[in-house]
Amino acid sequence: MGIQRGNPSERKLSFSGKLYLPEIAKGMMFTLQHIFRPNVASKYPEVPITMGPEFRGRPVLVAEEGKERCVACGLCARACPPLAISMQAAQIPDTTDPKERYPSWFEIDMLRCIYCGFCEDVCPEEAIVMSTEYDYIFKDRKDAIMGKDRLIVDKARLKARLDFLATRRNGQFGKQYNFQEENNTHTYRNKG
Ligand code: SF4
Ligand code: SF4
Repeated sequence: MGIQRGNPSERKLSFSGKLYLPEIAKGMMFTLQHIFRPNVASKYPEVPITMGPEFRGRPVLVAEEGKERCVACGLCARACPPLAISMQAAQIPDTTDPKERYPSWFEIDMLRCIYCGFCEDVCPEEAIVMSTEYDYIFKDRKDAIMGKDRLIVDKARLKARLDFLATRRNGQFGKQYNFQEENNTHTYRNKG
């Protein structure tokens, strides 16, 4: 049996390929063509990119009239795959407040969050939604744990995402999953 020399799967070069220079010229031509085409590359981070409402940035708590919608039911924490959410439920002492419960503290460990949006999907109050924020840094691991002070965002600032959810997610489920204010009644006192 004769000895096989070289790699049988090796690409065979044409004559111009063996000369190299024509191939280099072809490459230069390709580069030249692209110099005169419109530049579609983003200049991030020098120029920030504005995300649309379909984007899943960091999860935030929706606030109405300065108070979080959240009723501390814990569903989001149960659904969160990397266990990034923790909270403590507490009674609202003011008996004239129609709501019974709120989270006395609520934290999301952003080093764990994988931006899956499950918390948003399961929340019965539309109290936690994905925002368009993606650009933030942490000084240390502790700094990555966001509390209510950094999580609560007024619903006016989240309108685009809330509208997106109403039109793209909730419609198929009908009234039961229509997260409008009149449906925000979980943990209401004396609910009939
Ligand atoms: S987006 Fe996903 S990983 Fe992040 S807090 Fe919500 S459920 Fe957890
Ligand atoms: S699922 Fe919604 S209402 Fe329940 S604890 Fe999470 S954010 Fe609050």
